[in-house]
Amino acid sequence: MIEKLEADEELRARNVEFGEWPIYGQLELQLLREVLESGKWGGAGHANTPDYKPKLPEMERRFADLHSAKHSVSVVNGTVAITVALQAVGVRPGDEVIVPPYTFIATASAALAFGAIPVFVDIEEDTLAIDPDKVEKAITPKTKAIVAVHIGGAPSNLTRLSEIARKHHLALIEDAAQAVGASWEGQGVGVIGDIGTFSLQSSKNLNCGEGGIILTNNQDYYEKAWSICNVGRVPNGAWYQHENLGQNYRMTEFQAAVALAQMTRLEEQMRRREANAALLNRLLGEIEGIRLLKQDPRITRHAYHLYMFKLDSRLAERIDKQDFIHKVTAEGVPILPGYVPLNRNRAIIDSIRDWTGETRVDDCPVCERLSEREVLWITQSMLLADETSMNHIAHALQKVIRSCGFSK
Ligand SMILES: *Cc1c(COP(=O)(O)O)cnc(C)c1O
Repeated sequence: MIEKLEADEELRARNVEFGEWPIYGQLELQLLREVLESGKWGGAGHANTPDYKPKLPEMERRFADLHSAKHSVSVVNGTVAITVALQAVGVRPGDEVIVPPYTFIATASAALAFGAIPVFVDIEEDTLAIDPDKVEKAITPKTKAIVAVHIGGAPSNLTRLSEIARKHHLALIEDAAQAVGASWEGQGVGVIGDIGTFSLQSSKNLNCGEGGIILTNNQDYYEKAWSICNVGRVPNGAWYQHENLGQNYRMTEFQAAVALAQMTRLEEQMRRREANAALLNRLLGEIEGIRLLKQDPRITRHAYHLYMFKLDSRLAERIDKQDFIHKVTAEGVPILPGYVPLNRNRAIIDSIRDWTGETRVDDCPVCERLSEREVLWITQSMLLADETSMNHIAHALQKVIRSCGFSK
């Protein structure tokens, strides 16, 4: 297959375009117009009227249904969603929160925003998700929660992590910012742990510019989260009845309108990404020098926010990752280097010191080696391209690896 493409001049000349994103149409325009003309632009409890049905409650309901969740709270972004989730389950300043180092910085900074302390636990070599065996060893009397990040859209080992959380009386929070629509053993992510958070930021698979959603099946956590996001008001309380310390973290009706419209496109886009990811697994699986990630069979749906793969460690010894990316990009395939380890991030280390008085750097050798030398990303919008483009990706990778003179 790849041999055949090598000779295909036309492919090389085509300069395939990746990443038309976002994708929108008349429905977005229509719903935005409805909000505009209603005059009900903000996010504070508009009632249904004959002329206008508010978008936020409908969007929250549909988002919850998408993951078979009981409750949802919309918020300004996915970062704030994590802060609120931590606070809703009772994490307090000074408490420790176990997080993986291979994630977006918000996973850790959302805790540090109110003085909760992230403790980094290394990832699994072949999934890049937090390693449950190492989680248990990192638990101290100060630990209050574990944040499982569904990195790239692949659910973490929620069965093991739930067991560990239950055994040690910790809250399990799912950072599902990248995993809209994903499922573990048939259940939508976000509510397998105690509470889950999502992002609707521009790059994410379901996007309304900026936005976040908190899901939970726990009534108490729902009410706390709702209250924190609504300046401490309580559901069905009076307007100036503030029973908790909260902030205004509300989303607007405009964002809900765009999110609702985007939801109608989600299923088709998910299928496209899944089909292209399956094709990439086949094509890249045949290339010497590339290692695919392992997918736990209990992942019943992968959201493919990212298609992540690795350079074989022997190849990674021969070529610098940045050089490799540069060469593949020159072939018209814009692969990305991905995250740098959060446990080594200066701002995080300094913030931990500011809150605790201690300079602590957690050791995460697997994450550090893989992120520096081996892991590469293909983004979700690239996965919306056609089959020819997937072949183009495989062809470019094969060509660059050959140019390194790599063979087993
Ligand atoms: C995007 C992202 C966030 C933060 O979401 P924002 O909406 O950008 O604030 C948190 N965690 C992960 C894993 C993310 O990818």
